[in-house]
Amino acid sequence: MASPNGPVLLVEDDDGIATPLSAALRGDGYEVRRVATGGDALRAAAQGCAAVVLDLGLPDMDGVDVCRRLRGVAPGTPVLMLTARTSEADVVVGLDAGADDYVTKPFRLAELLARLRALLRRAATEPGRPTHRTLTAHDVRVDVDARRAWVGERELELTPKEFDLLALLVSEAGTVVSRERIMRQVWDTNWFGSTKTLDMHVSWLRRKLGDDANAPRYLTTVRGVGFRFAGGS
Ligand code: CA
Repeated sequence: MASPNGPVLLVEDDDGIATPLSAALRGDGYEVRRVATGGDALRAAAQGCAAVVLDLGLPDMDGVDVCRRLRGVAPGTPVLMLTARTSEADVVVGLDAGADDYVTKPFRLAELLARLRALLRRAATEPGRPTHRTLTAHDVRVDVDARRAWVGERELELTPKEFDLLALLVSEAGTVVSRERIMRQVWDTNWFGSTKTLDMHVSWLRRKLGDDANAPRYLTTVRGVGFRFAGGS
């Protein structure tokens, strides 16, 4: 069976598990992308994948947090959790965080493959599952299609221009976006000098984000150039 929407993303730091599991997935016809940390998983998932096989025990982040954030980065993508934790409470926490199913280590490869097939089948036959394009940087999430944005769990009330500005800056998180480009893309105008409007919008956006221009957590002014949204996920 070919992977329908990109590779299966395998998130597992333990080579002793990841290597045979990758081979088994490939043997079943899936394209596989393997990463070993939660940070890499979130970045890879944002680029699109058919499903995520997610280990709970990761070196940089708790798998439950990764799962929760996957729901923002890749809504509608099935998540199969691998857990060494057998207590019912841990499994419930995992499912609450948005996992669609789980397999307890040690597992049989055939069982894992069967669970994954079932999840992919279900995802393919549930047209109601959201497929919104979502951007994230830091703890800010922007749903481009719904035109909604959040800081952590708090939804921001943004004007249309503030939303466009935030979406542009978050989409380029970690790099400086020039004033000229912002004026062109958000205000649909070529820049002839004054960008007072832009500065006002940046200041309103900062206030809504709860950011401080003098000690910015999200939005940094790069003097003479433009603005940079904090990178990382
Ligand atoms: Ca692990």
